[in-house]
Amino acid sequence: MDLRSVIREIPDFPEKGIGFKDITTLIKDKEAFKYAVDLIVQDLKDKDIDYIVGPEARGFLMGAAVAYALGVGFVPIRKKGKLPAEVVRKEYSLEYGTDILEIHKDAIEKGSNVAIVDDLMATGGTVCAVAELLEEIGANVKAMEFLIELSFLKPNEKVKKYHVNSLVKYE
Ligand code: IMP
Repeated sequence: MDLRSVIREIPDFPEKGIGFKDITTLIKDKEAFKYAVDLIVQDLKDKDIDYIVGPEARGFLMGAAVAYALGVGFVPIRKKGKLPAEVVRKEYSLEYGTDILEIHKDAIEKGSNVAIVDDLMATGGTVCAVAELLEEIGANVKAMEFLIELSFLKPNEKVKKYHVNSLVKYE
């Protein structure tokens, strides 16, 4: 199946000059959605994964489906102030300014194997912040899984110490 054909590109969103990759067209297609989730599960099935971790918000869509299909639990990473219990947080750089990601302090037992699942890796800044947060609370980051990688932004430099699997790459 050609996943690229069900990813829609929206020009000038959220700002002029950016071609936004819209995955709503992929996940509403029952065959494409199942195919994509199954490919990620296939890549993870021998890695002894205990938890799938997904960042807000599109990481929830893919991550929860992958967790269910793999037969493991799902742990959310959220923007500042959304999680109700005690959190650990990480500030990270965006193109303009900074943002804060949080995880529940007790979400993952020390020594657990986790895989991060998100819709898209652009610069790699988000996934690196998520990995650092997870390592801070004692998790082993075994894999990073994406529907889409914007390879032309060279995220791989940042994530080269990790196993990275991206289903569709834009060179
Ligand atoms: P990064 O931190 O530069 O790697 O950006 C990745 C984050 O931004 C992910 O959480 C994505 O959901 C989001 N993102 C950036 N560009 C796009 C896009 O074109 N489509 C969908 N999400 C995007």
